[in-house]
Formats: sequence, C-alpha cells, structure tokens
Amino acid sequence: IACPCALGLATPVSLVTGIGRGAQAGVLVKNAGALERLAQATTLLIDKTGTLTEGKPRVVGVQPVTGFDEPELLALAAAAESASEHPLARAIVAAAKERGLTLATAENFLAEPGIGVSAQVKGRRVQVGRVIPNASSSPSASPERRFEDKAPYPQSATLVGVTIDGRFAGTIALADPVKITTPGAITNLHRLGLRVIMVTGDREATARAVARELGLDGVHAGVTPARKQQLVREHRTAGERVAFAGDGINDAPALAAADVGIAMGTGTDVAMHSAGLVLVKGDLRGIVKAVHLSRAVRRNIRQNLFLAFIYNGLGIPIAAGALYPAFGWLLNPMLAGVAMSLSSIGVVTNALRLRNVRL
Ligand code: ADP
Ligand code: MG
Repeated sequence: IACPCALGLATPVSLVTGIGRGAQAGVLVKNAGALERLAQATTLLIDKTGTLTEGKPRVVGVQPVTGFDEPELLALAAAAESASEHPLARAIVAAAKERGLTLATAENFLAEPGIGVSAQVKGRRVQVGRVIPNASSSPSASPERRFEDKAPYPQSATLVGVTIDGRFAGTIALADPVKITTPGAITNLHRLGLRVIMVTGDREATARAVARELGLDGVHAGVTPARKQQLVREHRTAGERVAFAGDGINDAPALAAADVGIAMGTGTDVAMHSAGLVLVKGDLRGIVKAVHLSRAVRRNIRQNLFLAFIYNGLGIPIAAGALYPAFGWLLNPMLAGVAMSLSSIGVVTNALRLRNVRL
C-alpha cells in the first residue's frame, strides 16, 4: 500500500499520451517541458514573414533610380541573391528568371540575417536588403547599408533596397499575402487569453499595415535577430510567460530564449532545432491546437497526481491502523494489492483520455 507506483506514472503517462495526440494533429513536441509551459503562456511574440504570411513573396515592382534600368537592376540583385535561401531572395531570383534575364555569377557572397546580402557581381559590389526610412536615426544601419524608402507601393508591400558600388540604385517591392488561416487563428488565440505581438525585421509601414489588418496587440518592426532575442528577454523580465513563433534563421536566437519556442515546419532547419514545438504545416491554427493540448495535458497531470496521492494518502494511514481504535478497521493485504493495481490502472486510463481530446 506504500508503493508510490501510480505517482511515478502520473506525469510521464500524460505527457507521452499528449505528445502522441499532438503528433496526430500536426504539432510535434520536441521538448515535453515546452508543452507544459505553453499552458501558462501569456504573450505570443510572432514573426511576420513566413509565419503570419505565406512566406512566398512575389516581386510586384522594380523602381530603379535614374541611371539604372529595371532589367539591369533586377538582374544584378538576383545574381547577388542567388546563393541566399531567404524567401525574399528566392522571389527576386524567380522574378528575374520569369523575365528571361540571365544571371551573372556572384562572388564573395555574404548574408547578414535580418538585414540582407552582398556579393560581387561582374566586378561590382551589389547589396540587397532592408530599406531604412530614416537612415540617420537607425543605429543598426552601417553607412553602406543605408537604403532609401521611397516607392509608391501599397503599405503592406515589403521593400528591399539595392545599392551598386555603394550608390543607392533602386527598390524592389514584394507582396507576401497573409496566410488564409492566420486571421481565424489570431481570433482564437485572443479568446484563449494570449496577447499577440508581431516582431519583424520588415519596415515599420509594412509591419503596421499587416498588424492593423490582423488586430494584433503590438508591433516591433525593423528589428535585427539579436534584438528579437532581446525583446523576448524584456517581455520575460516584465513577468510575462513568452511563447515565440517563427520560421527563419533570424528567429533562432529568439526561439531559444523564449519559454516556449514554436517553429514552422515549413521554415528553416535552424529554427526547428531551436524550438520546443514544431508545427508540421506551418499553419497558425497549429498554435491554437498546441495551446489547447498543453492545457489539457496540464489538467490531466493534475488529475493523475490527485488520483495517485489519494491512494497512498488514504491507504497508508488505514493500513497503519488509523481507523482501528474507532471502527476496528485494518486493511486486508489482498485489498491493498487490488488498490495498488487499481490506482495504476486509474492513472493510465485517465491519461489515455488525452488520445481523444479535441484540439
Ligand atoms: P522577418 O523578421 O519578417 O522574418 P527577416 O528578419 O528575415 O524578416 O528580414 C528582415 C528584413 O531584412 C527584410 O524585410 C528585408 O528587407 C531584409 N532582408 C533580409 N534578408 C534579405 C535578403 N536575403 N534579401 C533581401 N532583403 C533581405
Ligand atoms: Mg520569418
């Protein structure tokens, strides 16, 4: 009767069953602790490109400054981007190929996550990356990284700037639609009591337009990967329990620093390695499912611990003779044996209910 067998089973059995249920629903749990912590998350910091949006941007406009023409600008930018796996880079390369442009080979390729790329193309130094609207006020902008933000595109378009040999040569605008499942998922996350705040490397105007459309609770735009991580820390220091959802190399530090890192299965390997949970489809409804699952698992663990404790808590005193003076009751060893099996069976049966939990 003193054997705390059910107590040892209570937590792992719930977790294992919950992890199995998650896998069926496309939520891969890499770290059981992350699943437990998600139940108490108060704030979801979320990346924009590839997480809220499709991550499959398309070039919608090329705006060279005088002295350059469109095909030349696009061909040079695409050549520099050809070695990058960033979604914006792929879109620029695809646009150049669609227009039948031939891409020169790029040398000395260098990628700065969250900022852009640079490479040597036909002997010219080509840089493609973030536009910085007010260069002088942005401490993250080195002088050769100061692109201008001046293109007549919709607010929600992402702009990248191109410089050639240090001279601003033009902008390329890309449209990246919000995933069709995103608005519904955000509404559900709000219902679950989470604050949802966008953290993106994209420019302010684009970030605000998307955040307004989705009704998010806050926006941090123009942030570097290091700053993303720092923001996670700041929110945690402020007493919030932070989940971070992202897909890119630039999100990896933040994913690792959050209480719960959630990576999109459609994203980069680095992001998936840094996260505790991976959403197979990269669809935000997966976050809603994960939150439901984590709360169900937490409740189940509590029920199991209660079941296990009550058996030892009542059984041991009775076996020790606590009720003997008053009622003359002792515990028959056969009954104690049955009780021990029943408590383990009870705990396992309760945990197995998680297989059918609705997410
Ligand atoms: P997000 O945080 O929205 O996922 P990133 O941090 O990956 O975005 O990128 C932030 C910004 O840096 C982009 O909006 C883009 O302007 C610029 N950028 C990053 N990588 C590249 C690249 N390979 N080519 C062009 N621009 C890039
Ligand atoms: Mg991203």
